[in-house]
Amino acid sequence: MPSDSNSNNIPSGPEIITFSKVGKIYEPQGTVALSSVTLAVERGEFLCLVGPSGEGKTTILKLIAGLEAPTAGTLMKPARVAMAFQSAALLPWLSVYENIAFGLRAQGTPEKAVEAKVREQVALMGLLGLEEKRPPELSGGQAQRVGIARALAVNPEVLLLDEPFSALDAKTTAELHDDIIAIWKKTRTTIVMVSHIIEEAVSLADRVLLIKKGAAAAEFPIDLPYPRREQGEAFLHDVARIRREFFKD
Ligand code: ADP
Ligand code: MG
Repeated sequence: MPSDSNSNNIPSGPEIITFSKVGKIYEPQGTVALSSVTLAVERGEFLCLVGPSGEGKTTILKLIAGLEAPTAGTLMKPARVAMAFQSAALLPWLSVYENIAFGLRAQGTPEKAVEAKVREQVALMGLLGLEEKRPPELSGGQAQRVGIARALAVNPEVLLLDEPFSALDAKTTAELHDDIIAIWKKTRTTIVMVSHIIEEAVSLADRVLLIKKGAAAAEFPIDLPYPRREQGEAFLHDVARIRREFFKD
């Protein structure tokens, strides 16, 4: 860890995810996506991974989700993990309600419990009145809300968000930032989010981990009250610290 990191590598609280020298090579091309990643996420933490594109961020989420297996090292993760993607990845022929219910039904949840859970998520994500609409009728922000609602519906221990706001306009993004913070505070679900926008990471996360060339290059605890963008100098100072490491070779 570079000197800019002022916390050690061993979190004090109970860890929900740990990577120990995790490597990932994609075959048959032999692409090295991760060289050696060591990290730990505490239960209840909001961690944001930032870094240049193509250097391993999504691969880390896929390993946590169990969508890919590591080719080196060891990792520990909980069983119940849910992921929301950059494009909300909704099923276009199903209604908002059916999309949110999808994961629950796949788990064999009884229909009464499905209904209660979908109603709860609809309220939580501000989707009331949109239940019968289909994805092509939704705005980008609404579609992303449905994607997050679908992920949260299964009560995940960890919520993974892969650049969930990058296709949205600035105002919609700001609204969703406020909502995701409110949901995180309310549910205390552990969140691991990927972003390539440093300002976004500093706006949201407890800790920002810089991922470069398939490894954790530096980490930055963010200790600012919300809303972060209103913290003026202190916010800009944290952004600048990360930016320096981001662009350093
Ligand atoms: P990021 O999310 O930081 O942009 P990724 O984790 O998606 O980076 O990709 C890291 C590297 O692994 C890139 O070189 C990418 O091309 C490669 N890669 C990602 N997914 C696959 C895959 N399924 N098959 C082969 N190569 C992949
Ligand atoms: Mg990616």
